[in-house]
Amino acid sequence: MKRLDKIYEGKAKILYLTDDPDSLIQYFKDDATAFDATKRGTIQQKGVFNNKISSILFKELEGKGIPTHFVKSLSEREMLVKKVEIIPVEVTMRNIVAGGMSKLLALEEGIKLNTPVLEYHYKNDALHDPLINDYHILALKIAAASELDIIKEYSFKINTILKDFFDKRNLDLVDFKLEFGRYKGKVLLADEISPDTCRLWEKGTGKKLDKDRFRRDLGNIEEAYQEVLKRVLS
Ligand code: 5GP
Repeated sequence: MKRLDKIYEGKAKILYLTDDPDSLIQYFKDDATAFDATKRGTIQQKGVFNNKISSILFKELEGKGIPTHFVKSLSEREMLVKKVEIIPVEVTMRNIVAGGMSKLLALEEGIKLNTPVLEYHYKNDALHDPLINDYHILALKIAAASELDIIKEYSFKINTILKDFFDKRNLDLVDFKLEFGRYKGKVLLADEISPDTCRLWEKGTGKKLDKDRFRRDLGNIEEAYQEVLKRVLS
């Protein structure tokens, strides 16, 4: 697969065209940003860890019936993906109160939720990814009703699959963010699933093994990503 022009560069990844018009190369960088990119840094080898972790999780999900954009791993930092049109909605799934939910409702972090919480955020950095609901999405034609039904169904299924996957590896899946895209009339899971986009707490100790170590200056960031990779591989 030939890597052609760069078509997009985001905060953590770059997308390149390939000689196949239906495929892109997704390249994982070491750059880290937080709080709408007001905090910037580098996490050594993050791109390598996230590429591997995402590949494994996409394969796990595909095996359990969730269609994803993942085609195959190409190198340490590159995966081949289907060229989707990203739907500008970030879906957040939560099992335990943390981060945004803790702030929004003045709740202590760590409270176990009785049932998973699904949130939609409009993907727009300038607006700080505002919380929206189904009605905004339909009224503003951000996605069609049929697409939203699928997104919701997949999101809950993905949560069940990943929660179980991490449970077996002694990690609590606190929350995570998903992005979906359109591809040949179908909705596919896109973007990445990694410690950049998930909160993962070690069972028992509650040790944070995710991007909160960067956001909150907790140190040992590289070690945390490496530890997640080790557990995901086990
Ligand atoms: P929160 O809304 O609590 O900040 O985030 C909930 C979960 O979604 C966390 O696991 C967080 O890492 C992920 N998340 C939400 N928005 C973003 C985003 O814009 N970028 C990244 N990398 N993760 C996000």
